[in-house]
Amino acid sequence: MLLIILLCIAGAFGILFLLPLKGARSFRYQPPVHRVHEADAVLSRRLLEPGTAAYNSYYQQNPQLRIADDRSRNSPGLLNEKAQYYDPGTFAAALANFQLIEFLGALTHGQGPVKDNQTETSQKKQIRTDPDRYARFIKKWLEGTGAHKVGFTPLHDYHLYSHKGRGKRIGEAIVKEHNHAIAITVGMNHRMMQSAPQGTSVMESSEQYLNSGIHALKLAAWIRELGYAATAHIDGNYEVICPLVAVDAGLGTIGRMGLLMTPDLGPRVRIAVVTTNMPLAVNKENSDRTTLHFCHHCKKCASVCPAAAIPDGPRANIDGVDRWKINSEKGYHFWTTSGTDCGRCISVCPYSHPDDSFHRLIRWAIKNNLLFRRLAIKLDDIFYGPRPAIKSLPSWSDIREEP
Ligand code: SF4
Repeated sequence: MLLIILLCIAGAFGILFLLPLKGARSFRYQPPVHRVHEADAVLSRRLLEPGTAAYNSYYQQNPQLRIADDRSRNSPGLLNEKAQYYDPGTFAAALANFQLIEFLGALTHGQGPVKDNQTETSQKKQIRTDPDRYARFIKKWLEGTGAHKVGFTPLHDYHLYSHKGRGKRIGEAIVKEHNHAIAITVGMNHRMMQSAPQGTSVMESSEQYLNSGIHALKLAAWIRELGYAATAHIDGNYEVICPLVAVDAGLGTIGRMGLLMTPDLGPRVRIAVVTTNMPLAVNKENSDRTTLHFCHHCKKCASVCPAAAIPDGPRANIDGVDRWKINSEKGYHFWTTSGTDCGRCISVCPYSHPDDSFHRLIRWAIKNNLLFRRLAIKLDDIFYGPRPAIKSLPSWSDIREEP
């Protein structure tokens, strides 16, 4: 009899926690209303050199940012050997990846004119102009060669920066030349991120900036071969804001820490984008609101952020939309003192756990049931700790001599 009662109680709880009660209606993702100037991004501002006309002009117009930015300028710097987490092997690997990314930056707009395959005389006229086929080919190709996910969206004005804020075209207005955008995510290694904010995190993020960039560059070159214009947007060479494109391409939403939250890897991805005038079938925007609801209650990233750069309150109305806004000055200052791009928030996020059967089941229940969503936050604290420990660097990454 007792067994039957216990089974009934367990069954009732099971039903209660697995019923499709989403309860996240008010957590709609809202795209931005205005375009932003790339010069206002902290990673563009760091390139302003004190004493130059560009520096003086920027801080005359934005005096409130100068003290915080100069504080970061006077810190050791990203990947600097005087930084807190300096580690020779992983720092050198990240520098090597960034050198390669900088070299590849020359290829984002292609070399030479786009192939003319659209004329009657072209040998390639037999190519079918079929948006579904093009999209399917791209998805199969890139996901079959290491990309995590590929999504397609119409290119919207708000995806684009208003002006270039760095590089040779600094100050130039960005004109919307294409009508489609393709977002490409690549996964970041779970173990490498577990040691964040130490050297493996910046090594891994540089690795995946490089990998996502290679996917975008080869795709843009392929599109040009077929006679359509295409631009690759890769690390250091963006005209678009990649997470905004990725959301509209159906790949996720933007959570508390301001990063793309994918359904299976959470924020543990890097993104590159290709914009083009190739006709493409597009994906539906990700309509899931449960991740934002989970973020509303979770706050784990905010509580572990070593820079206190992630807000721990509810979403606020910022520039006309409800969202969380990180304090990028505080975050970047931590980067310049630690020497890495941190990643502690990514490493502790409950959505970052490995994409295995167990965590897939948990994610399914989080998505489908309001009560389980609240319970899962507690369970994550019980299993992993409210402030999960930072794992030591993997032994293979240590190239220093024994003391
Ligand atoms: S740690 Fe929690 S609050 Fe932060 S992004 Fe992940 S789910 Fe959202």
